[in-house]
Amino acid sequence: MTANLAHHAPFFAVKNGQLHVESVPATDIAERFGTPCYVYSRAALEASLDEFLNELTGVDALVCYAVKANSNLAVLNVFARRGAGFDIVSGGELQRALAAGADPKKIVFSGVGKSAEEMAFALKTGILCFNVESAPELERLNDVAGSLGLKAPISLRVNPNVDAKTHPYISTGLKENKFGVAYEDALAIYQRAAALPHIEVTGIDCHIGSQLLDPSPFAEALDKVLLLIDQLAASGITLHHIDLGGGLGIRYQDEGAPTVNSYLQPLLKKLKARSLKIVLEPGRRLVGNAGALLTKVEFLKPGEVKNFAIVDAAMNDLARPALYDAWHDIVPVVPRNTAPSSWEIVGPICESGDFLGHSRPLAIAPGDLLAIMSAGAYGMAMSSNYNTRPRVAEVMVDGDQAHLIRRRETVEELLALESLLP
Ligand SMILES: *Cc1c(COP(=O)(O)O)cnc(C)c1O
Repeated sequence: MTANLAHHAPFFAVKNGQLHVESVPATDIAERFGTPCYVYSRAALEASLDEFLNELTGVDALVCYAVKANSNLAVLNVFARRGAGFDIVSGGELQRALAAGADPKKIVFSGVGKSAEEMAFALKTGILCFNVESAPELERLNDVAGSLGLKAPISLRVNPNVDAKTHPYISTGLKENKFGVAYEDALAIYQRAAALPHIEVTGIDCHIGSQLLDPSPFAEALDKVLLLIDQLAASGITLHHIDLGGGLGIRYQDEGAPTVNSYLQPLLKKLKARSLKIVLEPGRRLVGNAGALLTKVEFLKPGEVKNFAIVDAAMNDLARPALYDAWHDIVPVVPRNTAPSSWEIVGPICESGDFLGHSRPLAIAPGDLLAIMSAGAYGMAMSSNYNTRPRVAEVMVDGDQAHLIRRRETVEELLALESLLP
């Protein structure tokens, strides 16, 4: 099936015979910064955040962008300038968020394995809330806060055991997942938390999975969490905020991704009568369709069974196809008007799983540029140096300007971290 750019417009669109990112021709970006490179549209980032902010006008709510989806400082800064908070999962992400201008009071800290050092850093920073994911984590946090003479604000991440109906690797709200505490255990752990001297119970948290295309599991999870909130209230524990996590899906191919309105309105309706601040942790939805990976066709290898187009980007740059069999639209930067053939779009890495797309109808020649669309989320953030491939450059377009926001790594930089035996 042929790729369609309609859902990327107006930020990524073919104008005057070639793909533009906002007002900048993609060929200019490739020429100036080289390929492969990630390119993001600032206007697209802002538009996706605004979709949330507009739905939340007049509501006591905080959008905490999930840093792990795309943690480039310039991306974080675009969101921080618009008042967003951040959902972090490591001390490294906390440092990034602060370097990008985040307000500490708008940072929530998720993750199942927070170290004592990470806890101390976040406590001293004065973050909004720790999303605690287990009973032993609660004890450790109490100890660390005590040693610093501080009190740790916490939410318990509860596992509502709802089926997010997404890929098993990115489903997190089922009993068999490693995340959060079992719904049945939450009350007892909250009671323990309320009794700890260096813990301050402030909220409740759940995150049921990623790339959800049906909003109903969110409502189902919320119902369960509200029930728990009532049980907690009955036992004398009052919460101030409810964190509904992230997970709203995007359109990669032809999926019907829900609007932010259809996702949020049912939730807001259920929360209307309650005086709870709402925290949201969208990741993919804010950045996924705001980025593309530009790559160049190196060689064409037509064959009897399959035709291979070997491009200069690979699974180390964009792991999602190899990891989840994920689909990304692949479009020519300068479309040709010759007849397309079917191509396997593969990278130079020595793995058969190194593909970016299967059976794509494209009219291409060596040297052509391709754009791998919807690569703004879990693209660069999941990249690696496998095969000693330096990580690629990242560029952000703002109107008619393209800015380098992360320069390409060099092999020398990679080798500099290593040493020979004496
Ligand atoms: C990954 C993650 C998110 C963001 O998920 P998306 O699917 O990218 O929106 C939010 N909260 C937590 C706890 C996460 O682990």
